[in-house]
Amino acid sequence: MVRIIKTKARSIYTKSGIPGADYAINQYVGCQFACRYCYAKFVCKWKPYGEWGSWVEVKTNAPELARRRVDGTVFMSSVSDPYQPIEKELKLTRRVLQFMDKRNRLDVLTKSPLVVRDIDLFKLFDHVEVGLTVNTFEGREKELIEPFSPVQKARINALKELSEEGIRTYAFISPIIPGITDVEAVVRETRDFVDYFGFEVLNLRGAGREFEELLKENFPESYSVMTSGEKFARLLKELVELIKRLNVKTEGIEVHQGGWRFLRI
Ligand code: SF4
Repeated sequence: MVRIIKTKARSIYTKSGIPGADYAINQYVGCQFACRYCYAKFVCKWKPYGEWGSWVEVKTNAPELARRRVDGTVFMSSVSDPYQPIEKELKLTRRVLQFMDKRNRLDVLTKSPLVVRDIDLFKLFDHVEVGLTVNTFEGREKELIEPFSPVQKARINALKELSEEGIRTYAFISPIIPGITDVEAVVRETRDFVDYFGFEVLNLRGAGREFEELLKENFPESYSVMTSGEKFARLLKELVELIKRLNVKTEGIEVHQGGWRFLRI
């Protein structure tokens, strides 16, 4: 049972260092999907509610605050999934979209097919794009790494439906974990209906000590590639070659090792 904490925010648009985003908007903080590697877990340092995934902070006044016109791209969301399970009942994300200035450039990223519910609202924006994170985790891998997120097929179907409704879409292939994430399979399954691809290699440091242990114990080969400079460099080289061979539209690969960088393709 997830603990819901209702709060009021002073503002809802926060400056963002995320590539391609000027602001982030988080009507929720915390995420029921509780992915083991989630980079947003760091917020637990300031939120004394318990372990990541067991609580969600709900900013009840987010819709009114979202009215503001902002210059630049707004990324929804950076420390939560805007379409996590409680959204179905609370409809907070939907109300934020209803209130938001439709001239704001909006980039929505989720793992949930619930996003298709709001296609009617996306159509009202001057500039909007919707991404679904797809990473091919199934069976034991999914159970260990991302147990509560929607299945891959549902995410792919959501991308297809969004695209058929005329929404600009992208598949965000993340996290790329060597030996586990099948990048080529995602591209093959989605290339007919997504506008472009995002690629992100697992940020092992951001994923935290517990995830590092999980990877080491259950996927030692993957762990070895992630922690060896030479093997990691080879992984990146092979990824660049693969993406070039697949000939898809992308900005490049997000890489985090000894700091964040963007590998242009
Ligand atoms: S869906 Fe996103 S925000 Fe939610 S736990 Fe997973 S990685 Fe974190």
